[in-house]
Parts: sequence; C-alpha cells; structure tokens
Amino acid sequence: MRHFPIFLDLAGRRVLIAGAGAVAAAKLRLLLKTEARLELFAATPAPELAALAEAHAILLHRRPPAEADMEGAALVYAAHGAAGPDGEVAARARAAGVLVNVVDDLAASDFITPALVDRDPVTVAIGTEGAAPVLARAIKAGMEERLPQQLGTLARAAKGFRDAAEALPPGRARRDFWADFHFETGPHVLETEGEAALGAALEALLARHLGAVPTPGRVDLVSAGPGDPELLTLRARRLLDRADVVIHDRLVAPAILELARREAAFIAVGKEGFGPSTPQEAINALMVEHARKGAHVVRLKGGDASIFGRLDEEIAALDAAGIDWAVTPGVTAASAAAAAIGASLTQRARNSDLRFLTAHDLKGHAEQDWRALARPGAVAAIYMGKRAARFVQGRLLMHGADPATPVTLVENASLPAQRIIASRLDRLPADLAEAAPAGPVLMLMGLAPRRAAEAPPELIEELA
Ligand code: SAH
Repeated sequence: MRHFPIFLDLAGRRVLIAGAGAVAAAKLRLLLKTEARLELFAATPAPELAALAEAHAILLHRRPPAEADMEGAALVYAAHGAAGPDGEVAARARAAGVLVNVVDDLAASDFITPALVDRDPVTVAIGTEGAAPVLARAIKAGMEERLPQQLGTLARAAKGFRDAAEALPPGRARRDFWADFHFETGPHVLETEGEAALGAALEALLARHLGAVPTPGRVDLVSAGPGDPELLTLRARRLLDRADVVIHDRLVAPAILELARREAAFIAVGKEGFGPSTPQEAINALMVEHARKGAHVVRLKGGDASIFGRLDEEIAALDAAGIDWAVTPGVTAASAAAAAIGASLTQRARNSDLRFLTAHDLKGHAEQDWRALARPGAVAAIYMGKRAARFVQGRLLMHGADPATPVTLVENASLPAQRIIASRLDRLPADLAEAAPAGPVLMLMGLAPRRAAEAPPELIEELA
C-alpha cells in the first residue's frame, strides 16, 4: 500500500484550486461537499465557476496562486489539465510545504482523491493507486446500489445518541443495541414514521436494552478450511464477523483472521510445525474462561475441525463447564489437495473406501491397517506425514505394496504458495528430502496428479 487512506478534517481549512475549466469544476463539485474554505485561482473562469464565486460558495482570485497564498492551506489542487501551469502550481505548493494533487497525474501528486460513495456521515472511499480506474468505478457503482440512501440519516441520528448509549456497558451489550438500531429498528421506524420519530425510537430501544438480561457466553468450534478464505463456509464467515474472542490455531492463514471482527481479541494457540505448542488443557481453559465472562468465543481450527483436531477433547471440556457450543464443519486439507491435483478421492472399481490417517499419534509413529493400505488401488490421505515418510514407505512395502504406487504431496494446499510434488512409493523419502517443503503437507497415497503440467518439470517426463 503506497497511498494510505485517511479522512482529513477540512472544516474551516483553506483548500486551493488552480484552474479555470472543466477539470477545476469537477474537483470543486466534490470539494463543495466538505466544510472547507475553497479558493479558486483562475484568470478567466468558466461561467459555472464565476457563478459559484458570485454565490459566495468560493473565493475567486483572477490570477495564478503565489507561494504566499499557499501558506496555511490544507491542500492544493493543480487543476488546469495542462502540464505547464500545473507543474508551476505543484512546485509552489511543495515550496510552501503543502500537499498537492495534480489532477489525473499520479506521479506528480502527493495525494490522490478516491472515488466516493457519499452517505454523509458515512463515506466510502475507493482507491486503486491508479492501477484500475475502471475497477474503482465498478466498485463504486456496486456500493451505490447496495447502500440505501437512508444510511446517512440513521448514522446522523446514531451520532447524536452515542453519549446516551453509554448507559449500556461497553462491549457486546452496546454493540447489540447499535446493531438492533441500524439493521432492525432504525430502518423500520424511518420507513413507517419518518426521520422525526428516530429520537423517540432510540430512547425506547435503549430502555428495552437496559432491561435485557445479558446473553450467556458460548463457544463455536469453527472449521477454517485449508487456507484460502474462499473456502470458508458462509456460517464460518458470519460467526467470525460476530466473535468477541477468536482462539485460533497458528496454522490458520492471516487472510482468514482478517475476516474476523476487528475489535475481537485474537489468541494464537496450538503448535507450529514441530515447534512449541500450547497444551490442550490450556486451550480448553481459555475457551471456558472467556465464555464464562459472557463472550462469544470462536475456536477456529484449521481444515475441518473434526479431523485430527482433538475436537472431542474440547467439546468434553465445554460440556464439563456447562457451556453452550456448536460445530461448524469445513473443507479438510485432503479435499483441497485432491482438488489441486484434479483427482477424485474415490473411484468406482478403484477404491470404494478412503482413509484419513495420520502418521503420528501420541506415542510417535502411528500404526495402521497396513495390509489394507498396501492393496492395489488403495487411497489414503495422510496428515502430518512429513517426518513419517520413511516409516510409511517401509510399512507399506513390507506389506507388499507396489513400489510404483503413486504418491502425491501437496504443500500449502489452496494457498498462493501451493506446491505439488508428484512421487512414487519407492522414491518418496528422496523426493520429499529434495523438495524440502516448509509449509504443511498433505500426502495423497494412491493418487497421481491428473494434469502432468501441475508437476514440477523434472517429473513431467516421468509421468508422461
Ligand atoms: N483439521 C485439519 C488437519 C489438522 S492436522 C484438516 O482437516 O485439514 C495438520 C495437518 O493437516 C498438517 O500437518 C498437514 O498434513 C495438513 N494440512 C493442513 N492444512 C494444510 C494445507 N493447506 N495444505 C496441506 N496440508 C495441510
């Protein structure tokens, strides 16, 4: 982000515009929405501009701006639409230490004016750093459609009532009150009784919320999916949007955490690769502690919460503490890995069963029904298998598996850093050592990538 968006208080401040034609007029139309003192510098202003001066909406100087004019100004717009005079204005503004915008010249400007959706006091500013004006216009058009005109009216009424609403305890009680006003009561009253009734409606709503019994805390055990935010369920998104506390695995991608309510408290737990880990008891205690305080806790778990996530232990702890909970299912790493290689996890006549297995358990390497896994056509999704590749290989070969059985490793499935490593049982440890994946890896035993192009170049030939 090269350009940092801010909202500047222009009330009573001087803003200078240099230019006499359509470019200056367009900027003025926008600036007239503010409470700035606008000064136009134009020797021969277009009639529209002269009329504004006559109506005292702006102050008109029939000459170019001098450096002395710039002093104390908040902003300067060079709006001739011509490089020569605009360059001079910009140079003077810089000499005076005032931020300048040369209209339609990103490189020559200190700041840029975003596309605006105006529902004063609610303002949406859209910028693309000059990369895609067409996109900015499309986003603006979409916003204009989505944000009702009455939004500003409701926000103004809310602004005047903020002090009164402090009678409610901060946090959830106050948030629930405002959500009720903005999304339920406010629009309804505005539509049926009009703006004048909003004050009384706010008073009545506050009385109702002051009398309400606080809702008890609860825990939602939410699946975060394999990493791509697009693979979150709608329910996961909604819950994240409302959470007071988010207790998340370290593996959960930052792009997903960004979707959570900004004011939520974030607590990272669990383990990072083979690094330090939070004991399960501590995670359980955290959930219970926050829910007891009345918080809506989202326990966010990578992939699907019910697969190798110690879900039962967390549920048992919540039950023991008498705390309400629910599970939100999600996309597991195996599904994302299969999608990445364009393969089906099951196939008629090949495998009518599918195993999700981990090569690790509490005691180290985990034993499996190796005989069944070694059968031709068997498919297994192996989690946490990076360090166990040699063990898995040894057990399978010992039970008669074909050394040429395809094994595909998918690192960072669904994430931008996704990598596919096509291998075979006999070469598995060597290929893994060579690829040296740093991210989480899902091993698909018995499956090869459908599209050879997805394998690294040196492997394409062998696959062909
Ligand atoms: N509940 C999770 C699994 C947790 S165990 C799920 O359903 O996916 C952690 C293991 O999951 C990792 O060691 C790795 O094997 C696998 N994993 C999780 N996310 C992954 C991803 N984006 N790409 C590849 N493997 C992943």
